Amino acid sequence: MQVEQGTLNFVETPEQALLRESVSAIAARYGELYIREKVRAGEKTTELWDELARGGYLGVSLPEEYGGGGQGIYELAIVCEELGAAGSPLLLLVVSPAISGTILARFGTEAQKQRWLPGLGTGRDKMVFAITEPNAGSNTHNLETRAERTGSGWRLTGTKYYISGVDEAEHVLVVARTGTDEETRRGRLSLFAVPTDARGLERQLLPVAKIAPEKQFTLFFDGVEIPDDHLIGDEGDGLRQVFFGLNPERITGAAAAIGSGRRAVAKAVAYANERVVWSQPIGAHQGLSHPLAKAYIELQLAKLMTQKAAWLYDAGLDAGEATNMANYAAAEAAIACVDQAIQIHGGNGLSEEFGLADMWWGVRLSRTAPVSREMILNYVSQHSLGLPRSY
Ligand SMILES: Cc1cc2nc3c(=O)[nH]c(=O)nc-3n(C[C@H](O)[C@H](O)[C@H](O)COP(=O)(O)OP(=O)(O)OC[C@H]3O[C@@H](n4cnc5c(N)ncnc54)[C@H](O)[C@@H]3O)c2cc1C
Repeated sequence: MQVEQGTLNFVETPEQALLRESVSAIAARYGELYIREKVRAGEKTTELWDELARGGYLGVSLPEEYGGGGQGIYELAIVCEELGAAGSPLLLLVVSPAISGTILARFGTEAQKQRWLPGLGTGRDKMVFAITEPNAGSNTHNLETRAERTGSGWRLTGTKYYISGVDEAEHVLVVARTGTDEETRRGRLSLFAVPTDARGLERQLLPVAKIAPEKQFTLFFDGVEIPDDHLIGDEGDGLRQVFFGLNPERITGAAAAIGSGRRAVAKAVAYANERVVWSQPIGAHQGLSHPLAKAYIELQLAKLMTQKAAWLYDAGLDAGEATNMANYAAAEAAIACVDQAIQIHGGNGLSEEFGLADMWWGVRLSRTAPVSREMILNYVSQHSLGLPRSY
């Protein structure tokens, strides 16, 4: 959806406010207890996913003609923030509609859009995303997973790891090397929609210390045969196409972190107003209130930058810098909010009952994934400040 340019307005539209309210009302019926039970049982969050799907919230940013809501990444970010604020953030929302859905809607052929987008938009299907590899790390140019042409399509070989939600998805959008640039020696990358049950594709659970229902996997591609019509977009143009989807991932990820930060601050305020250790509530001690106030200011600033990034993205403008800054600011602010909320709760901050320790891993993750703090600082140093590259 194209947003209107030339106006500056910090008040959300009535439709956006309603979206916030509606998602918040659904999410409040689930919350952190629901998530904790699901994690313990090793179960998927099907009930919450399905209820959001019925309301049309999962596909809110996908094109209307393929069953989506026809809104923007701004609206999807609202959904992610409100889920985070209710204690039930969904990682797969940041992956399936935000990355894979966006890339398909932008670069897929008409036939590919008709085949896959309605399922992603209604939430019936999921397409997860695989770029990370053990040997390449943040250096995407060094990806080793390769796709070679066969008579009828492509053959994929290689390893990906930390891939979320493969056990819940029908397809995984894989970034693979289909050539090497002669001059730079960098990989020419392409994108493939690979069925998760394809022959030759094995997955192994990768245990991650966290309190979230989505699981991570190492994927082994051993000569996986893919038909030609599963190549998404232009061969060799994968990196540019990926970035079209990674900005929405980072914006919605930032929004989810902001939601968690809001939740932590709300819990901290309630506790600090109620708990009396000496003669007045502990919130009166500036040693506790000032760090919380600082974290809250930083959270609000991060939210502004996230909204700006979403707005730029939806307007079709360059959102790279704002997206990176939003991701950085949201991660740091959310970590500070949760950390101070834990401190305010004393020993209770680490108990299961108060739900803050559960939140810790999620906000801490946002400093590392989808993009690490250092790679964001590299981006800003080089692109915003014009400093030389160190690597
Ligand atoms: C729970 C979880 C879910 C995930 N889900 C997915 C998923 O669904 N799909 C997917 O593809 N990936 C996924 N990932 C992977 C994630 O995106 C990566 O872990 C992240 O991008 C960091 O890459 P890396 O682990 O290879 O770190 P590395 O690149 O090995 O970096 C290690 C450290 O070195 C620093 N570093 C590296 N290069 C530089 C440099 N030039 N300058 C300064 N510092 C540098 C990094 O910032 C980092 O601190 C997930 C990870 C986790 C933990």
